[in-house]
Order: sequence, then structure tokens, then C-alpha cells
Amino acid sequence: MTMISWQTLLKRDSNAVESQQRKRQHKLRADRVGTFEVLRAPGLFLALIAIFLTGCESSNAPKLGRWEGPPLLSDASVEAWSFRGEPARRIKSAHYVIYTTITNEDVLTQLPQVLEGALSQYRKLAPGVPVTLVPMECYIFDKRIEWEAFTKANTGADAAVYLQIRRGGYAVRDRFVSYYIGRTETSSVTAHEGFHQYVARHFVGRLPPFVEEGFACMFEGISWHGDALPRWNLAINQVRVQALRKAVEANRLWPLEKLVTMHAGEVVEENGEKVDAFYSQAWVFAKFLYEYENGRFRTQLQTWLTETANGTVFDPTKTHRRAGGPWNRQGVKPMLEHYLGLDFATIDRLYREYVRQVAFDEYSAQWRS
Ligand SMILES: [Zn+2]
Repeated sequence: MTMISWQTLLKRDSNAVESQQRKRQHKLRADRVGTFEVLRAPGLFLALIAIFLTGCESSNAPKLGRWEGPPLLSDASVEAWSFRGEPARRIKSAHYVIYTTITNEDVLTQLPQVLEGALSQYRKLAPGVPVTLVPMECYIFDKRIEWEAFTKANTGADAAVYLQIRRGGYAVRDRFVSYYIGRTETSSVTAHEGFHQYVARHFVGRLPPFVEEGFACMFEGISWHGDALPRWNLAINQVRVQALRKAVEANRLWPLEKLVTMHAGEVVEENGEKVDAFYSQAWVFAKFLYEYENGRFRTQLQTWLTETANGTVFDPTKTHRRAGGPWNRQGVKPMLEHYLGLDFATIDRLYREYVRQVAFDEYSAQWRS
């Protein structure tokens, strides 16, 4: 299937926002709140070059992953809503209610399909986690000025922090708020933020922020089957793999030992390339957990996620068993060792080998799969 969309990249200023947000952790459960994503010009041009360059390679080359998605359109209904006295819409689907001022009918049709389709993808990570029966709320505005007004009205003193976001959106607990930035980019942000929302709603415990961020990135790339049904291939993220490749070639990789204890806000003082490296490494670490050596760790990953969702995750510090309170980053390494059944030095070695595999050996397959 041809990839017709591209994924999103985070910009440095989004992480500046996250950093400030983290400082408000005591008030805001900041690891949940600090999930702002900001888009920059997508890598379409590079993607097109890569398609051109790889077009000469053998068609027998291995493909990555599988494209999957809902077989049928999800039911959705549209009701009248109003925002600041102006007519707006409320879209209801099985698991979501989307409040929106968008008027483009194609986009309105697409949004519930993205969310419901993405939810079925999120659930593949930990199928044992029961899905909520209470719809998850999303606010997706047509114009930034509307998003700003909503943010000022609903986030109190923290609005100033959110308003620094230049493009995209943010998630607060199990609700996300974004605005329209183009059809495919809006879909990517929706699927990414939707994962943070899914975890916030369904998980009693806390994933290490770096791990949650990486999985959110796994859902960014959406292609469309027949222009109506979204499709995901969790092995593919063309934008992230480009950033990863650049980071490797520029020798800018973060050490895994550092990464697993970090949240995005902590890279704020770094330059944009280091930020890109952080997210691309988060993405490739999630990919490592999900599909390294044909899914060698997938069963353990499911156990890890399920126990996190249940509030029984292995963590010597016990701080990951509840999402709400402060967390102790010292718990992450023993948690990884426990669930992967390997010492950290071995995990680190395998991860570093995998980074090179993805950034080089599998690179062109990202465009031909
Ligand atoms: Zn995120």
C-alpha cells in the first residue's frame, strides 16, 4: 500500500512548554499533561526523494510490518454544538465525542474514523486491558484563535504555558485539545495524542514517559484505503526514521541509560536536532519492544502494559503503580530488566544494534512497505 501521509515531528518549542509544565507537576500530574505535540513542515520532500531513490531497488526486498485497520467505517453521528455563540458540531462515535468548529465535511467525516481506528491499534499493544464505555472527549478547533480562547477559558493559570505551542495540540489527562493544521497532519496529531488520552483513561499506573512517548509516535503514520478507511503499519514512521538516521550520522544519539529516565521537557535546553533525536529514539525503542526479532519481547511487553494498566507494575520504587503522584525515575531500569528478562547492559547493546538496523538496513523499506 502506498503511504500517502507523512508523520509529525516535534519542535523544540513544544518541549520548552513541556519543561515548564513539568515544573508544575505537583498541581497538574504533569507527566500526563505534558504531552504537547507541535508540528513542523513534514518531511514530504525528503520522502519523495527517498521514494525516487528507492524506486530502483529490487522489488523482492523485504517489506516491513503489515498495514491494518478497520474493515468497515465506524458509526458516527453529528449533532449541533456551539462555541462562543457560533454554531459548531459534536461528533459522537462508539468511544469518542469530538467537539469541533471544523466545517469541512471531508475532515469531519475523517476524524472519528481516525480515532476509532487508532483505538483498535492502541489496544493491540495490551489486548487484555478493557476499553472504557465512557466516551473520551476531544476538542479539535478549526482555527488557532478558537483553540486559544478555549485554552484560556479551561486551563486557568496554565493557559500561558499551553499557548506557547505553535502548532498542534496538547493532552490534559484523558482529554486532548488541538486545532486544524492540514488534513493529514491533523490526523497524525490526533492519533498521537489519542494514545496519551487512551493511556490516561485506561491505565491506573504510569508508563515511563519515554516509553509512552515512543508508543504515541508509533501511531502517527496513517495511510488511507479508498480515501475512507485509515490504515496503520506500526513498523513504519518515515519522519522519525529520517530523524533517527540523521542523529546516528551526526553522532547525536542519547544514551539509553539517560533516555529511559527522561521526559520530553528535559531536552528543552538542547538544540532542535537533539530534540528530534530524543523523539526518534523514543519511537525506535517502542518499535524495539514491539517487534525486535519478530516480536521477541512482545509477550513481555503485553504483560508490562497490562500490569501498568492494572496498577500492579513491577517497580522497586512503587511510584509507577499510580499515575497521579510523583514518580521515581530510578524505577525504570529495574522495570525494564524485569520485563525483558535481561540485564540493562544487554538491553542497551541490543537497542544500539537495533537503532543501526532501523536507521540503515531497513531504511529504504520504510518507503516501499
Ligand atoms: Zn506525545
